[in-house]
Amino acid sequence: MASIFTKIISREIPAEIVYETDNLIAIKDINPKAKTHILIIPKKEIETINDLETEDREVLADLFFAAKKIASDLWISEWYKLQFNVWEKWWQEVFHIHLHLLSNI
Ligand code: 5GP
Repeated sequence: MASIFTKIISREIPAEIVYETDNLIAIKDINPKAKTHILIIPKKEIETINDLETEDREVLADLFFAAKKIASDLWISEWYKLQFNVWEKWWQEVFHIHLHLLSNI
C-alpha cells in the first residue's frame, strides 16, 4: 500500500519541500519535534531499514549526502542530528524509510 510519503512524492498530498532530486525528496515534518525537523525520503518505497537490500546502498548514501547539503544550506552544519526510527516499538509511524534531520537552531 502506498505510504503517505509516496502520496507526497506524487503531489497527491501537499508538503513543504525543501530539497528534491530524481531519487529523494526532503520535506518539513508536519509535527516538528525540534526547531528544524526535516524528513529525507527516498522515492523508492522501502518499508524499514530491515528491508534494505545490497542494491539499495546508493539510495541510503544519497540520504546522507542530502542531509549534509541541507544542513549546510540551513547553516546548521555544526548542530544537528540524524535519526532513523525502526519499527513501531521505536516509534516508526510511517513505513517508508526516512531520515530525520533535527536541530534546535
Ligand atoms: P517516524 O515516526 O515514522 O520515524 O516519523 C514519521 C514522521 O512523519 C513524524 O515525525 C510525523 O510527524 C511525520 N509525518 C506524518 N505524516 C506526515 C505528513 O503528512 N506530512 C509531513 N510533512 N510529515 C508527516
